[in-house]
Amino acid sequence: MSRGVVIVGASHAGVQVAASLKDLGYDQPITLIHGELPTPYQRPPLSKAFLAGQTDADGLVLRSPSYYGDKAITLLSGVRVTAISPEDKTLSLETLPGAPAAQNAPTTLSYDHLVLATGADARTLPVPGGDLPGVLKLRDMAEANALKTALAAAESLAIAGAGFIGLEVAATARKLGKTVTVIEAQDRVLARLFPPIMSDFITRRHQEAGTRFRFNATIDQVIEMENGGKQISLSGGDQITADLVVVGIGAEVNDTLGRAAGLKCGNGILVDETCLTSNPDISAAGDCAAWKLLGSSRYSRTESVQNAVDQAKIIAARLTGTEIPVQVAPWFWSDQLDIKLQMVGDALEFDDIVIRGSMEEAKFSLLYYQGDALVRVDSVNRAIDHIAARKLVTNRTSVPKDATADIGVKLKNFV
Ligand SMILES: Cc1cc2nc3c(=O)[nH]c(=O)nc-3n(C[C@H](O)[C@H](O)[C@H](O)COP(=O)(O)OP(=O)(O)OC[C@H]3O[C@@H](n4cnc5c(N)ncnc54)[C@H](O)[C@@H]3O)c2cc1C
Repeated sequence: MSRGVVIVGASHAGVQVAASLKDLGYDQPITLIHGELPTPYQRPPLSKAFLAGQTDADGLVLRSPSYYGDKAITLLSGVRVTAISPEDKTLSLETLPGAPAAQNAPTTLSYDHLVLATGADARTLPVPGGDLPGVLKLRDMAEANALKTALAAAESLAIAGAGFIGLEVAATARKLGKTVTVIEAQDRVLARLFPPIMSDFITRRHQEAGTRFRFNATIDQVIEMENGGKQISLSGGDQITADLVVVGIGAEVNDTLGRAAGLKCGNGILVDETCLTSNPDISAAGDCAAWKLLGSSRYSRTESVQNAVDQAKIIAARLTGTEIPVQVAPWFWSDQLDIKLQMVGDALEFDDIVIRGSMEEAKFSLLYYQGDALVRVDSVNRAIDHIAARKLVTNRTSVPKDATADIGVKLKNFV
């Protein structure tokens, strides 16, 4: 009897593999292993609408709870894979406390093909006091619930890291009226991802909303005070206090299972352009997988929903013998304050930037050029540019700079 496809991790990548297999007519068993409880959910709103209290957990489900049964997808919730045995194509499983006992989860499972979609975990603050209660991370629903509860009782918070998570939490906390200080080791926000012109714009908007920044500073230690608040020592000798510390210093790839199974790994599980690992019976997708981006010879991971979903679709197409979707330039969005930020392309090496629209009115795009080729576009409140930019950047289209600078000329004319 066919053992079908087993998918480890039921978030954006894992659920999409199962859904796309079904859409493409795969008729063998599909087992989706969800290492959390209860139902697979979306992560992006955890730092935005969910934290702000604008939506609850029911509003975050990736698919309705009945979807899996209706599609004959076996969903094992609260079950974690502890080991892979690639030689006999089996997995060892453990059931988490609190998982529905009626589920009668097996302790081993066999596969014909295995998909690893194990994602990443939030990095912990690696300093004394970094594990105190009240020093919180944000990656999964349990952490989001803990943060939401703590935030309701807090008046002030210190955020370690001015990356996307830190800035989104800062924006949400200011919306809720909290005092917010962001501590960043670099001299500007999102320094790894943006040139100074964009970092400065984003910083200004957050400052106008009341967030304070401490740049060129790291946290050396966190001490619990008598009132439960936190005293935070910064490099350079300063101390600040806050009721709560939120840690947004990046993610740690979850490739332990893959490594132990002998798969080739770097920073993540290495996959080819069809998301196949070094083992022909195992694929990997999403935040745990590293592949070569368009036009690059270097393996890299992209932590975004689009990447997880696109890679999942590629795996499903390969497993069903259907045409494999072409790789597109990576894109990402982030919502902070009144900023709807959308980015496409990964290149931070560029010769020229063209500004399209008005930075003062927070309605603009930055277009990055290598020679005449458009290699990346960052849009703020200009969804119309972003949609056209996905194709233009994927194709590294030559677009005249004076035309892109003119807001009266539609970017889609050049697609
Ligand atoms: C707060 C927050 C906000 C974000 N905002 C945005 C945004 O605005 N835009 C955007 O594009 N992206 C955003 N992201 C990133 C996006 O959520 C991730 O890129 C996406 O979730 C990756 O999906 P994935 O399926 O690869 O992995 P993950 O979402 O990390 O899921 C992996 C799953 O695998 C499970 N797992 C791991 N090991 C095992 C095991 N051994 N057994 C069983 N299960 C296991 C984990 O428990 C987890 O449920 C955000 C992320 C966070 C945390």
